[in-house]
Amino acid sequence: VDRRTAKLLSRELKHTGRIFRLEVDRVTLPSGHTIDMEIVRHPGSVVMLPVPAPGSIILIRQYRYAIDRWIWELPAGTLKPGEDPAAAAARECEEEIGLVPGRVTRLRGYFPTPGFCDEEMVYCLCEELQPPAPDSTVRKDEDEEIEPKTFTLAEARALVAAGDIVDLKTLAGLTLLP
Ligand SMILES: [Mg+2]
Repeated sequence: VDRRTAKLLSRELKHTGRIFRLEVDRVTLPSGHTIDMEIVRHPGSVVMLPVPAPGSIILIRQYRYAIDRWIWELPAGTLKPGEDPAAAAARECEEEIGLVPGRVTRLRGYFPTPGFCDEEMVYCLCEELQPPAPDSTVRKDEDEEIEPKTFTLAEARALVAAGDIVDLKTLAGLTLLP
């Protein structure tokens, strides 16, 4: 197995935004080629698998401006820098579906776009879902208009088969449930 990695020659920061930054790295790759790589540096995200009862899953329908469509997805959120994914899952679960998980289990991480982005998506199973405490201060994100719905796993997989789930992180997540 080839374990050589790239050698960084120089780095130019092109953009720092609310969610990610864009860098252009001049690198010599393990192949020996020197090239400019445009890389999105991302703090990572958590993807929740909210299971209200065995054999069912809560998905959300939301508008995605980048593709100008309303789509079904697993709820997910960007990590704050250094944030523990399980803690983020508990917060995001309440924000996005209005339920607090009593138990969060970290399953595994995936890289959705390793060609140009270092984002890792960590999947967390969220169980024992309860309504939030009356004094909860968690608020919905202002840019998120979200409609949660409970599906059986069979129904969710039928949506995949029919092409009605087009979000890849959701497709991957559904394979993590028995
Ligand atoms: Mg979100």
